[in-house]
Amino acid sequence: TYVVTEDCIKCKYTDCVEVCPVDCFYEGENMLVINPSECIDCGVCEPECPAEAILPDTEDGLEKWLELNTKYSAEW
Ligand code: SF4
Repeated sequence: TYVVTEDCIKCKYTDCVEVCPVDCFYEGENMLVINPSECIDCGVCEPECPAEAILPDTEDGLEKWLELNTKYSAEW
């Protein structure tokens, strides 16, 4: 799955939401999040993010963000 990270906070762009083929972006407290169980790992959103806040969860140190993405997307 891909996860939305720190640089998304208070970002006003929603380019990522528009390109996602499965609509798995949700609104968190002050950032957008990706629902890990809906994300199909297509990677289309990553280059669209002007803040470069979207990363594949295979990168190191993203556990905390994966947790937040999971938590906030589950509230919907
Ligand atoms: Fe949506 Fe693809 Fe990005 Fe996952 S990787 S959030 S499916 S655009």
